[in-house]
Amino acid sequence: MSREYQFETRLLLSNNRNEYGAVNRAIYQTNAFEYETAEELEKVFAGQAQGYNYTRVGNPSNNEFEEKMKELENGIGALSTASGMAAIAAAVLALVEAGDEIVAGNSLFGGTYSFFKDNLKDWGVKCNFVETTELEQYQQAINPKTKLIYIETVGNPKLDIPNIKKIAEIAHQHGLPLILDNTLMTPYLFQAKEYGVDVVVHSTSKFINGSSNSIGGAVVDTGNFNWAESDNPLLADYLKFGPFAYLARLRQDIFRNLGPCASPFNSYLNNLGVETLALRMEKHCSNALELARFFDSNSAIKGVNYPGLKSNPYHQLAAEQFNNHFGGLLTFEVGSKKEAFKVINELKIAKNLSNLGGLRTLVIHPASTIYHKLSESEKRVLGVTPALIRVSVGIESARDIIEDFSQALEKL
Ligand SMILES: *Cc1c(COP(=O)(O)O)cnc(C)c1O
Repeated sequence: MSREYQFETRLLLSNNRNEYGAVNRAIYQTNAFEYETAEELEKVFAGQAQGYNYTRVGNPSNNEFEEKMKELENGIGALSTASGMAAIAAAVLALVEAGDEIVAGNSLFGGTYSFFKDNLKDWGVKCNFVETTELEQYQQAINPKTKLIYIETVGNPKLDIPNIKKIAEIAHQHGLPLILDNTLMTPYLFQAKEYGVDVVVHSTSKFINGSSNSIGGAVVDTGNFNWAESDNPLLADYLKFGPFAYLARLRQDIFRNLGPCASPFNSYLNNLGVETLALRMEKHCSNALELARFFDSNSAIKGVNYPGLKSNPYHQLAAEQFNNHFGGLLTFEVGSKKEAFKVINELKIAKNLSNLGGLRTLVIHPASTIYHKLSESEKRVLGVTPALIRVSVGIESARDIIEDFSQALEKL
């Protein structure tokens, strides 16, 4: 896939010609791969011959999707996973062991926040959370035990936006890799490699797949980080793979022993879905901006949070980082939890469910759902207030979406 082509074109290109000239990819729905001779299989296991042996470690359908994600992020390699959380767990666990620490922005996806706070702690790894947009706090939180820095492109549901280039600089001053969850912006809106990010993780269940038909994830090594120079003992056995040390540790250790691999069928669906990413993201962004402007001018709304509004504190930074686009997610507040429930119940087009990044407009009341397990003070830190509604703006007609919210708000 030539990197000279524009992003929209590269979405449709592939490195391989399909068997029989098929326009779409084959689905290699198999768990294992046979070889004529014991000698051949021995070589495949020893890494002396190219080939697949077992889908937990590699599969041609998964590989097609991995190649696509690698190309879209301008990386050197990628792995596909069973879910976004599997991608995040694999990406982090490849670099930490008991006694280590990590530094993470505090404005994180709920599952990631709990994984860092609870699971990593149970396994002897401490996460030092910092205010996502406060650069000074990253400097202060780093110590000799720190193994990586972790942030998201855009906080959710806070929609706070870190200065990613500056955080990458801080990480690299300390010889640490920066891992970024780019789910909300996708490589179409944010080219992480150019901003110094070392590892990109995705929940492909959202905008990448687009049609809400599969849970999946991906880990991409952008090639920015020199693993040989990192003194992480977990990579020592893999430094012989040069720039691919981290990817080798992921595939040969984490994937082999923990099993977070993707389903080949889901990789097929992801490959199909991602081809329209550019078109969909344009429409998600323009619809979200129109809806945000409508909320901004509606007196029943106590606050609307969308980086595309000029009054938003992150507007300038978002415009620079995301090529004048602002994503498909916004939040707004009404007067109370009761009012929020009323609005959600009155909506006719927007669906009330726990997801984002699908074709359809989706709403959720974060405090009583995704974040219901958190304490009040944790909810405050994450920006989850009782009257808050999160909207993942779909690609329906903007006029119909606005009309739907308008009629629901009139019932208050
Ligand atoms: C949904 C999401 C995840 C988790 O992904 P799953 O595919 O649901 O496991 C992680 N990060 C972000 C930003 C997400 O939106």
